[in-house]
Amino acid sequence: MKTTFFCKMLNNPFNDPVLFVRFRRQQDAVIFDLGDLSTLSVREVQKIKHVFVTHMHIDHFIGFDSLIRCLLSRETPINIYGPEGIIKAVQSKLNGFTWNLIRQYPLKIEVCELTETGTLRASFYAQEGFDRIDRPITPRTEEILSHDGLSVHAYTFYHGIPVLGYNLEEDLHININKALLDERGFTVGPWLNELKSAIRNDKNDTEFVLNGKSYTLDELSNLAIITKGQRICYITDISPTPQNIEKAISLARGSDTLYIEAFFLERDKERAFSRNHLTTILAGYIARKANAKAIEIIHVSPKYINAYHEVTQEVLKEFGAA
Ligand SMILES: [Zn+2]
Ligand SMILES: [Zn+2]
Repeated sequence: MKTTFFCKMLNNPFNDPVLFVRFRRQQDAVIFDLGDLSTLSVREVQKIKHVFVTHMHIDHFIGFDSLIRCLLSRETPINIYGPEGIIKAVQSKLNGFTWNLIRQYPLKIEVCELTETGTLRASFYAQEGFDRIDRPITPRTEEILSHDGLSVHAYTFYHGIPVLGYNLEEDLHININKALLDERGFTVGPWLNELKSAIRNDKNDTEFVLNGKSYTLDELSNLAIITKGQRICYITDISPTPQNIEKAISLARGSDTLYIEAFFLERDKERAFSRNHLTTILAGYIARKANAKAIEIIHVSPKYINAYHEVTQEVLKEFGAA
């Protein structure tokens, strides 16, 4: 399978985290978390269309100013998603600057706040001096974005405050085996789109009438060549509670790469509880239980700066890769 998106963690696990994801097909990019963006080029920042913030602790939100600074003259809006409080956090950041000279700039900031009970939206336009414009509240859904064959899901976790974990997934690729189509005497037509849609949505009871004969989905499914899409998951800053762990396994299930914090070593697990972070063993456990193909450690307490090999060893041993 061809990789259709490329991922890179911008900083080492002791610095403020940002996962940069660039897509092969569009020239777009998204980022997970708004930590230190200083290693990105202006060109790379200009590609960012969506920003998925886990929470607004300073290490995950300090990049907001440099992001906006770089995008002020861009026509395409920037979409920012985050947990409860993100609209107020963006508004407060914007209120910290003076905007009297930027009203001719085109930048539009669209903020989407995902709470347990609903989805709140607000817009901030440079032309309006970044005044807040509230949009109607809609129900909270797990899928928060579906666009161009990609979808993003967000779950809410507990970290003393609500925090979002995300996965980014590419749709199934479905191609039709033309040789088999000819062999079975079928002709190309709109029914092939219905077939693809039935496969994509698991509609096993769909019937197709072809050449005067009725077929079940099962009888036609070998016409389709299905390739699984790429899938990554990003989880950080969550308390080591049973509910969080269960949710993390569910969100990360089947990931090609799970990006996850391993903030404390196992020997400091008491501290992990009091500081609402995961341990190395829990990070490895979640990845193993979720059947992730690979694990990437993204956020580690700076107190282990001289003991990073211990961190990776504990994670990989539990994951089963060491
Ligand atoms: Zn953090
Ligand atoms: Zn935090």
